[in-house]
Amino acid sequence: MAAPFLPVAAARKLIIDDLSPLPAETVKLSEALGRTLRADAVAGVSHPPADVSAMDGFAVRVADVSSAPQVLRVVGESAAGHPYKGNIGAGEAVRIFTGAYVPAGADAIVLQEDIDGGGSHVMVKEAPTLGRHIRRAGQDFRTGETVLTAPRVLTARDIGLLAAMNLPRLSVGRRPVVGVLSTGDEVVLPGDSVAEGQIVSANGPGISAFIAAHGGEPFDLGVVKDDPKALLRVAESARHLDMLVTSGGVSVGDYDVVKGALSEAGFKVGFHKIAMRPGKPLLYGRLHALPVLGLPGNPVSAMVCAVLFLGPALARLQGRAGDAPEQSAARLSIDLKANDSRTDHIRAKLTHQPGDLPIVKPFGTQDSAQLATLARADALIVREPGAPTAKGGDVVSVISLN
Ligand code: AMP
Ligand code: MG
Repeated sequence: MAAPFLPVAAARKLIIDDLSPLPAETVKLSEALGRTLRADAVAGVSHPPADVSAMDGFAVRVADVSSAPQVLRVVGESAAGHPYKGNIGAGEAVRIFTGAYVPAGADAIVLQEDIDGGGSHVMVKEAPTLGRHIRRAGQDFRTGETVLTAPRVLTARDIGLLAAMNLPRLSVGRRPVVGVLSTGDEVVLPGDSVAEGQIVSANGPGISAFIAAHGGEPFDLGVVKDDPKALLRVAESARHLDMLVTSGGVSVGDYDVVKGALSEAGFKVGFHKIAMRPGKPLLYGRLHALPVLGLPGNPVSAMVCAVLFLGPALARLQGRAGDAPEQSAARLSIDLKANDSRTDHIRAKLTHQPGDLPIVKPFGTQDSAQLATLARADALIVREPGAPTAKGGDVVSVISLN
């Protein structure tokens, strides 16, 4: 009996263990979105920098107004960016606005609506509790505090936080430069005239976009024919890149030349063929120092393999763990038959349900050449090898697509 194909998790581990993070580089905060933070982010300032008012109103001393209603003398104003310089003494209040420093001596803010009068004197109608409506200095974070830990993909929310921490430059993982090469005598580029027997490349543009969306820099190597010499020439030209991703030519047909051609030049196979659907013929190895991921030609297989393997590989190169895509629970809309020995990835649509798990509905056809269903899908139902028949209403695992 032939050896069983490599399980999905083992294949991903083999790739991740084979890759090391690329060096970190320093970038401006404005260039850090989507990059992987490589050094813990330590606050350069405290936030808020001092005790500030959370509301518009009057800064008071609680002890003065404990038997409210009580009239206080207004001795000045504290606005954002224009703090009141003095102290608040007995029987005094300071007009204050949101974000303004709380004057020394004051220990609560009375809301504008809890005040009568204005001008030189105000009447506090009700006593506030100590510290009411005051945001304490450093309540968000303090100077020297580690606020975000590395590694981490930086979001827009992180960028706002890091700006507030007064960090104009950050250490992030270098973007992996990844060569993208489509193979196939029949493959032409979008916009080319399409002759009989030819198809337009989905994989080159799709995989390049995937790489860009996952923090990498795609390097377009175009299309090569199913010609070992031509393929090898392009692969050799990519040796200075951080990774090479090919599509097509990794099955066992007469024209599946990728492995053979690369092997001529000393390609070391990590694995070829894995126990998954779609995407069985996946190839991984190294052409000298260059990691090479050989995706199947079928565009759905190529993209599903990108989700499962290229995403984690890019994460690893940028300095993250390279974990498998997260799985969550959903409720099946229909029955599914028992699975065979390969992990199955079924294109599906999620519908959110108030108070319950989302419903997941598989598309009727799962042919691995059907790109339209892949684009319309927002999830892949993951069926483990040997999974028994599942009934409508059963809970299954899904990978969300974005
Ligand atoms: P292969 O893995 O080379 O046997 O290709 C499998 C199928 O995928 C064939 O039907 C190819 O025509 C198709 N295919 C290969 N490369 C691409 C590509 N870049 N874009 C779209 N389809 C492709
Ligand atoms: Mg081919």
